[in-house]
Amino acid sequence: MKQFKPIPTNQPLAPTLARRIVQVREIRNMTVLDLATLANFSIKRVEDLESGLETWLSSTDRQRLAKALSVEPALLKEVEKRHSEIAPLPESHMLNAETAERLAQDILDGIGGLKCPDCGAELKTNVIDGFDMDGFPTQFAKAFCVKCPYVLRI
Ligand SMILES: [Zn+2]
Repeated sequence: MKQFKPIPTNQPLAPTLARRIVQVREIRNMTVLDLATLANFSIKRVEDLESGLETWLSSTDRQRLAKALSVEPALLKEVEKRHSEIAPLPESHMLNAETAERLAQDILDGIGGLKCPDCGAELKTNVIDGFDMDGFPTQFAKAFCVKCPYVLRI
């Protein structure tokens, strides 16, 4: 078993999770493979974390990674970022599938005067003939709002 170097106590640590993982790993003279093996992560997972694609860890994963790096889990947690803190999803993406499903059914039933579920403005609707996944003819409902970016895709 390789001996990994301790982190000097006066060493300032990087301000993001990605850079901090790289930094601690390098101080310890570990390769990505060393870290992946010790944490029982895939190499891809370590790479995603180090490139900032993943910005936070579940508490189990954080403990495994912290143990592999021989640091306190809190040292990783303090620089984690939830995706919701970075870019909140636009309102229209939050609409549940049920609303879209019901709207699609109304369009297929030929109900007119439908309103945008986001802003209540007029909805332009369309029924498109196509084929389902098994190749049978079917109809798809399409709709877009005249005012806001709402688009119905089923
Ligand atoms: Zn709208």
